Amino acid sequence: MSPDPRRALPSVDRLMRELAERHPEWAEWLRREASRQAIADARAALETGAPAGEVRARADRIGMTLARPSPLRVVNATGVVLHTNLGRSALSTAASDAARTVGSAYSDLELDLETGSRGSRLLGIDTLLRVVSGAPAGMVVNNNAAALLLALSALAGGKEVVVSRGELVEIGGSFRVPDIMEQAGVRLVEVGTTNRTHARDYEAAIGPETGVLLKVHRSNFAQSGFVAEVGLAELVEIGHAHGIPVIDDLGSGTFVDLREQGLPEDSYVPTRLASGADLVCFSGDKLLGGPQAGILLGGAERIDALKRHPLARALRMGKLALAALDVTLRQLVEGDADALPTVRQLREPQADVEARARSLAERVAKALPPGSKSEVIETRAPVGGGSLPGFELPSHAVAISGSSSSLAMAEALRDAPVPVVARIEGNRVLLDAKTLLTGDEEAIEAAVRLLGLV
Ligand SMILES: *Cc1c(COP(=O)(O)O)cnc(C)c1O
Repeated sequence: MSPDPRRALPSVDRLMRELAERHPEWAEWLRREASRQAIADARAALETGAPAGEVRARADRIGMTLARPSPLRVVNATGVVLHTNLGRSALSTAASDAARTVGSAYSDLELDLETGSRGSRLLGIDTLLRVVSGAPAGMVVNNNAAALLLALSALAGGKEVVVSRGELVEIGGSFRVPDIMEQAGVRLVEVGTTNRTHARDYEAAIGPETGVLLKVHRSNFAQSGFVAEVGLAELVEIGHAHGIPVIDDLGSGTFVDLREQGLPEDSYVPTRLASGADLVCFSGDKLLGGPQAGILLGGAERIDALKRHPLARALRMGKLALAALDVTLRQLVEGDADALPTVRQLREPQADVEARARSLAERVAKALPPGSKSEVIETRAPVGGGSLPGFELPSHAVAISGSSSSLAMAEALRDAPVPVVARIEGNRVLLDAKTLLTGDEEAIEAAVRLLGLV
């Protein structure tokens, strides 16, 4: 009988001692975790009959990942303004400063400074939401999934919610409209078909048990061909004729009119409110350009009912995000929308993006290893982030081609001290200038130098 290969694996103590020699800067918890995980992975591989792999190299890699703060700052060179995997919107400098200030000190979060007694943490935000949107009342929760959960629970708990089959969407894998409904304790009534839903479908579904008519924005796909849907204004007419409230899950909403940029009016919050929906909800970190948040706008009585609901406490926003949202909304109200990176990127003239690409190209050319070349090209990138499906913005990028494959180059760029996430197109790696922020050019230059090692 051959000896059990698992017995040949080093012990945790031995691996930890070796890691201490190679990486004296690593804390003990980190060496222990990296050693344990590497050995567990090797054992798991052996149990399925696979080779154990290099357990020491694996421990190094795991340790390297654990040694970096998480989430880690990266450069978004994909051109996708709202990249779900890259944290969606970057904050304005003022908004992130506000989060830092409030985070590292005490604040009047729940204190009325005038009377010295307990106050509401949300009065300021509620006022700003009213001012920026024109809605009678507003409130915020942790994210838009929470906003929808709260709205459905409060307005339709125990009752039926009518939704078109064309809008039973899944967003990012863990958010599915039917699952949220179940958690909210409402009964889903599907109407219409995948591609076509008519007013008569809603009419036929309405009965004594109906609590809400729900419209859900198709944030990450577009339908074309033989399609029909009932618009928000028409849905509101149907609902109100029966005394039933209508909720609009807009997903991604903005207070900046982006029609000039060719973006659809769908996402403009004041237009949605003008349709007469009883509640409109959307994310703070999509087109709005702020921190993670779920924003709810509507009539004062409805919003009050949401605030009093027991779930409101469980779904409330943290003070760091709250401080950032407050400043973000002030900047929007005061006409300083271009301070928000998301808004600026969506509105920036093409000539400015091209100029940034050309300046980046000079740096890249200096840092590139021999045998590689770079050029400025015109590109198009989707807006992304579950916002405007099928919609692309023109941009400029620095295209790199070299002696190694585009996959290997993209991997090396992601491996840099400040990882650079680029787009791969055929045998080229594209560094899109649209989504670059202050300081990113230096980080890219440092990452490009590493291409000489692949
Ligand atoms: C993005 C999105 C959500 C989820 O919002 P989060 O802020 O990520 O929780 C819900 N509904 C729609 C239509 C969306 O686009």
